[in-house]
Amino acid sequence: MKKTGVVRINDIIDQVTSYHAEADVDLIRKSYVFSAKVHQGQTRLSGEPYLNHPLSVAKILSDLNLDEYAVSTGLLHDTVEDTYATIEEIQNNFGEEVSFLVDGVTNITKITNKNRQDRQAENFRKMILAMSMDIRVILIKLADRLHNMRTLEYMPPEKQKNIAQQTLDIYAPLANRLGIYSIKRELEDLSLSYIHEKMYREIEEKLVITSDQREKYVREVVCLIQEKLNQFGINARITGRSKHIYSIYSKMLQQKLDFSQIYDLTAFRLIVGSRKECFEILGIIHSIWKPIPGKFKDYISLPKANMYQSLHTTAIGPEGQRIEIQIRTEEMDSVAKNGIAAHCKYKEGRKIDQGYDQRFSWLRQVMEAQTEVRDSHEFLETFRVDIFPDEVYVFTPAGEVVELPKGSTPVDFAYRIHSDVGHRCVGAKINGNIAPLKNQLKSGDVVEILTSSNHKPSRDWLKFVKTSRAKSKIRQWIKLQELKSSISLGREICEKEFRKHNLNFSKLLKGDKILERVSKEGIKKTDDLLAAVGHGRLRVRHLINMFLEEGLNGKKHAAQSLSSSAKKVVCRKSGHGIRIDGIDGVMVRHGKCCNPIPGDRIMGYITRGKGVTVHVADCSFVVSACPDRLLDAQWDETSRHVATVPIEVICEDKTGLLAEITSSISSEKTNIVKAKIKTTPEETAVNVFDIEISNLKQLDAVIHAIKKIRGVLKVSRLKS
Ligand code: MN
Repeated sequence: MKKTGVVRINDIIDQVTSYHAEADVDLIRKSYVFSAKVHQGQTRLSGEPYLNHPLSVAKILSDLNLDEYAVSTGLLHDTVEDTYATIEEIQNNFGEEVSFLVDGVTNITKITNKNRQDRQAENFRKMILAMSMDIRVILIKLADRLHNMRTLEYMPPEKQKNIAQQTLDIYAPLANRLGIYSIKRELEDLSLSYIHEKMYREIEEKLVITSDQREKYVREVVCLIQEKLNQFGINARITGRSKHIYSIYSKMLQQKLDFSQIYDLTAFRLIVGSRKECFEILGIIHSIWKPIPGKFKDYISLPKANMYQSLHTTAIGPEGQRIEIQIRTEEMDSVAKNGIAAHCKYKEGRKIDQGYDQRFSWLRQVMEAQTEVRDSHEFLETFRVDIFPDEVYVFTPAGEVVELPKGSTPVDFAYRIHSDVGHRCVGAKINGNIAPLKNQLKSGDVVEILTSSNHKPSRDWLKFVKTSRAKSKIRQWIKLQELKSSISLGREICEKEFRKHNLNFSKLLKGDKILERVSKEGIKKTDDLLAAVGHGRLRVRHLINMFLEEGLNGKKHAAQSLSSSAKKVVCRKSGHGIRIDGIDGVMVRHGKCCNPIPGDRIMGYITRGKGVTVHVADCSFVVSACPDRLLDAQWDETSRHVATVPIEVICEDKTGLLAEITSSISSEKTNIVKAKIKTTPEETAVNVFDIEISNLKQLDAVIHAIKKIRGVLKVSRLKS
C-alpha cells in the first residue's frame, strides 16, 4: 500500500510547469500560502499537520496533469468547510474559476442538518450536479478521496469499513467510468484491504512468495517478444506487471478459483510509436503464441466511451500459461492512465474543450440536462444511464439510497428493505402516485411500499421481479405454503386410508412404528412423511402394505376381509364417482383439458395442495406428467357423474341434415347443451355439439346413431 510521504509545494509547481509551461505558478503559490495560514494549528488524525492533506491532494492532481486552477483548488479544497475562510474570500483572492471549483467540491461534502439518509441522497445528487458543471470538481473529489483512503488507517475502525465500502461502491466505478484507471486500481485495492483485510493480506503475501518465479517468467516473455520485434525492426517499450490485488480477488470470487489456479496474474503492455505498429505487433504476437478465441478486443478502432484506446489479447504463452497483452501508443497510454483528466489540461475556460466534449457525448448530455432541467430525478436518471448502465438508484421515503439492478420493480425494492415487507406488499407509491407492482423503477424514484398484514406473495411476482433476492424469497414462501398443504393433505389421506384397514394412523404415528419403517427410505420426521404422501412421492398403499404384510397389531386376518369392505366404503362415500388407488375423501376435480366421462380409462394426478385431478389416461397432460404424482383411478359403477362432451360431426352441407342429426342425438336420450355450425368452401359442414354424457356406452351409442345418417362423413369426440 502506498504511504504518503511529505509533499513540498515546489515539487508540485515543478511538475505543473513540466507539462504546462505557461501555467500561472503564482496562483498555486498564493493558494498554498493561504491554505497554510488558515489550516494552521490543525492536525489530521495521524498527528501530522493538516496542510499535508491539501498538499497531497494537489500532488495527485498534478500527477493527473491538471491545470493550475484544479491544482490550486486541491490546495484550498477544505478551507471553506473546515476553517474560518469564506467563499467570498476565495473569490476575491483567487478569482472566479478557483472559487467556482472550491464551491463545487465543498458543496458535495457540506454537512447539513439532515439525517444520515438524507445526506446520503443529497450528496449523491450534488456529486452529479457538480460533475455536470465541471468535470474537474469530480477529479478533485476523487483526489481527495484517494488521499483519505491512503490515510484511512488513522480512522476509527468502525468508520473504516463504511468509508471503504462507499469508495468501492461509488468512487472506484466513477474513476473507472472516467477512464482514470490508476486511481481506480488504487481505490479498489485500498478499499479491499479494509473490507476483507484477511483476504487482501493473503493475496498480497502469495504475490510476494511467487514474485521471483513470476519475474523470471516475465523476463522470458519480454525477451521473446523483443527478439521477434527486432527481427521486424519495430521498437517497443515492453512491461509486464502483476495485476492489482482487487482484480485477482474479483476473479477468484467470480470464477470460484483458488489463488494457485489463477495463471494470468501478469499483464504485459507494449507501448509503440504508431497506431499502425499496434496492429503489426498484434499479428506478430499471434504468430508466436496461439490467441484465445473471443479474448481479442480492438479498442483502437472502437474506443471506449471514456476514450480509452488499446488492443487487448490473451494468448497461450510459454509453459502453456495464459498471458494477457495490451498494445497501444504512448498517447493512448497516457489516456489509459489519466482518462478524462488527460484532456483537462491547458484549458482556457471553464468548460471542457469542444473537441473532447464532442467525444464525451455522455458527459455533454449530463451538462445539457443541467441547463435544461432542474429536476434531481432526471439527473439521477442520466447519471444511471451513463455511469452505472446496469443499476438504478431509488430512494426510500426517508431519503435513503437503494441500489437495484436495472429493470427492478417495487417488489424487488420491498424485498430489499425486508423480506416481511416483500411478503406483505400490496401496492406501491412511486413519487407519491399509486403504481402497479410490476412497474420498472427509474433512478431518482421515491418508492413507498404499501403493506397489509394478511397479504401473501403471489407466484405471478416471479414473472417480473429482477433481483435474485426477491426471487428466492418468493420461491421460499411458496415452497413453504405447498409443504404445509401437502402435510395436511397427506394427513387426511393417511388417516382415512388407514382407518379403512382398521388401523389407527395417529396411534401408529405416536408409537413411532411408521417412522421406524420409512426411515430406510430417507424419511425421518412425521411432517416429511405426511408431505411425501400429500405430494404424491409416497403411496399410502405402500405404507399400509408394510403393516398388513407384517401382520402387525394382530390384525392380519381382519385386514383381508377389511379390504373388501373398504371398497364398499369407497363406493358409498365417493361423491365423485371415482375411486383413486385406495384413497378416499380427498377433493377430486375433473381435468378440463380432456373431460373424462365414466367408462374412459382414467388416471388421478396429485395437484400440489389442491387434491386430485382426474384425466383420461391418454390425455397429453398425463403423458407428460411426473409419474410420481400419478395415481391409478377407476370409475365407480354407481357413478352419477355427467360430463359435457364435445363431439364433432362433419357432413355434407345440405338442408335438413342438421335436424336429422339433432333428433338422432335426442333419440339416444342425450341433451345437447350447445351447438356450433360452420360451413366450409368445400360444401361440407363442421358441427360441434356439446352433449351431456354419463358414461362411455351412451357416447358410443350417440356416435353410432349419427354415423348411420346419410350425408354424415365423420363423427368424433373432441379432445384437446
Ligand atoms: Mn479533503
